[in-house]
Amino acid sequence: MHFNFRCPTRLFFGINCIVENSSELAALGNKGLVVTGKTSSKKNGSLRDIVAAFSKENIQYNIFDEVEENPSLTTVYNAAVMAKRMEADFIVGIGGGSPLDAAKAVAVLVNNDISEEELMARRWTNTPLPIAAIPTTAGTGSEVTPYSILTVDEEETKKSIAGEDLFPKVAFLNARYTRHLPWDITVNTAVDALSHSIEAYVNNQASVFSDLLALESISIIGRLLKNLDEDDITMEQRWELLYASMLGGVVIAQTATGVVHALGYPLTYFKGLPHGLANGVITKASLEFLAQGDAERVEKVVQAMGCSSLDEVGQLLEQMLPAVDIKLTAEEQEIFVEKTMTAKNINNCPHKPKKKDIYQILKNSNLV
Ligand code: NAP
Ligand code: FE
Repeated sequence: MHFNFRCPTRLFFGINCIVENSSELAALGNKGLVVTGKTSSKKNGSLRDIVAAFSKENIQYNIFDEVEENPSLTTVYNAAVMAKRMEADFIVGIGGGSPLDAAKAVAVLVNNDISEEELMARRWTNTPLPIAAIPTTAGTGSEVTPYSILTVDEEETKKSIAGEDLFPKVAFLNARYTRHLPWDITVNTAVDALSHSIEAYVNNQASVFSDLLALESISIIGRLLKNLDEDDITMEQRWELLYASMLGGVVIAQTATGVVHALGYPLTYFKGLPHGLANGVITKASLEFLAQGDAERVEKVVQAMGCSSLDEVGQLLEQMLPAVDIKLTAEEQEIFVEKTMTAKNINNCPHKPKKKDIYQILKNSNLV
């Protein structure tokens, strides 16, 4: 056995966990900038709870509520201006993965006057502000990862920056915030979490410890996907989803993602597919490819999902996810293949894909 493991984020999981542990926020400073999306945090109780915690601790705050899906560089620079102006001591990200990832980049930019290029190349020298993360989807697991994924128009794709200093200091997980998450976002984000755990399990950085958590996460999400009912999703299921998604974040923090995320990014950038859906559409074909490198692990994934074959995994995903009707032109396929081949996460696959493998994944995913 030979591995290392890191989860430096202090986690609080449960109802009322923000207000009950408000002293954790006070420990980060006297002034906080909340970085969130346009509407959901105002409706799901998360913003109300953070404001209650701030008033309990006499923390001054401002709210930047303009984070869009797949956050742009313009957005994080704008939020950083607000944080600098108020001399924020810390940043709180509230929302799905987009506001959480934006919060991490803002934390860097407040303390570092750097260009977009320098940001994406991780060329900062000053420690970012501390970050608190409150996920309201289940999810990206961004609350426990050292990654911030941003849209880089210059390069026509999404790219991640990574580093120990991007781990949130504290995360508050309360599934009540996900109670009214629409069905399509519930399924898409659950499939994103599933893809994290699958990609971390079939990964050459995997360890006995990450395997334990990845398989647990895969089995919870597999069971839930089979049982979720659009008209009657229970709070217990929401808590399980949030837990499994957090586990998915913990494991990609060790291993990083793989071919699914590498190919999913251009699908989102060029075709506008939500992140989890983009991953879900190519998961089965990606597993077929990964089985060429490690059939045993792929079989374990199938079993953990409670399925008897890869075909059954594919059927389950197809049945749950919104229908996708995309056919890529030859030129688009070429671009997708090139973007995927230059993404660093493909190096984590047990055997590195060649261009022909990416074409095959696109074809087997009915995108050609
Ligand atoms: P998202 O882009 O953050 O949000 C999608 C939509 O869900 C938004 O319209 C948002 O509305 C809404 N929403 C969020 N919480 C809600 C709630 N509780 N109730 C109702 N609506 C809600 O979605 P996401 O899938 O969670 O995040 C995707 C992003 O995370 C991508 O950019 C992806 O690349 C990134 N990601 C990061 C990591 C990482 O480790 N850092 C891992 C995987 C994915 P509002 O805009 O109004 O809030
Ligand atoms: Fe993801």
